[in-house]
Amino acid sequence: MDLNLKDKVVIITGGAAGIGRTTAQRFEQEGARVVVWDLPAVDVTKSDAVQRASDDVIARHGRIDVLVNNAGILRDAQLVKWKDGNVVSTMDDATFDSVINVNLKGVFICARTVVPHMIKAGGGVILNASSVVGLYGNFGQTNYAATKAGVISFTKTWSRELGKYNIRVNAVAPGFIATEMIKQMPPKALDAMVAKTPLGRMGEPEDVANAYVWLASDAAKFVTGAVLSVDGGVVVGT
Ligand code: NAD
Repeated sequence: MDLNLKDKVVIITGGAAGIGRTTAQRFEQEGARVVVWDLPAVDVTKSDAVQRASDDVIARHGRIDVLVNNAGILRDAQLVKWKDGNVVSTMDDATFDSVINVNLKGVFICARTVVPHMIKAGGGVILNASSVVGLYGNFGQTNYAATKAGVISFTKTWSRELGKYNIRVNAVAPGFIATEMIKQMPPKALDAMVAKTPLGRMGEPEDVANAYVWLASDAAKFVTGAVLSVDGGVVVGT
């Protein structure tokens, strides 16, 4: 299968760790020119920093073929934690806003910044990191699950708006993938998820990286507006 990714200019947000780092390596194996946008140099929540980073990519490479909106954070808390007739804690505004800013607004800012370059060049691909929790919600993840549902909405909206410019937009919904982010979750919650996963294990970053590479490639040239689950079947197991 010819993936036709050689010399393609691929931006990966949050590409310094976890799934993003493995995705950067996979695109490099295919001969792509990979640019990582990660902290502290590029904060996806800051539109001026993203604009400068985008200008820099255009100055160095002349175009942007693929944007992988992978950067994301978790800040879990229950909406209202209740014990013995009292409120013990709530999800505070800062906790809510921080996750919305990175996982949702950051995706919006990066896409808005690169799309004009893709239109000028005659096309491109945008890939958004969703999650299985964006499909079915999750205990303690009011903020995170909302962002992951939100990027599915971005994906469908942008695929409608941008198809006429030959820009494809797709989302990947990983299940539980063994990265630093996931290690922040309580082991009990992880064990419960593995128990519900038909393939009986957590995923590896390569599993998700391979999905991004395929979706970015010419092999997926008629795929847009899709949400690809890479989850060992956890959604059907839930
Ligand atoms: P990770 O914590 O290992 O890596 C996230 C990367 O994003 C880090 O390099 C971090 O520095 C970067 N980042 C955070 N805030 C940023 C900002 N403001 N600007 C730029 N970069 C920033 O996470 P991961 O597990 O590799 O997850 C990657 C993506 O996949 C996330 O969007 C996550 O929500 C999603 N996802 C992960 C899993 C999983 O099981 N690991 C499951 C579903 C979805």
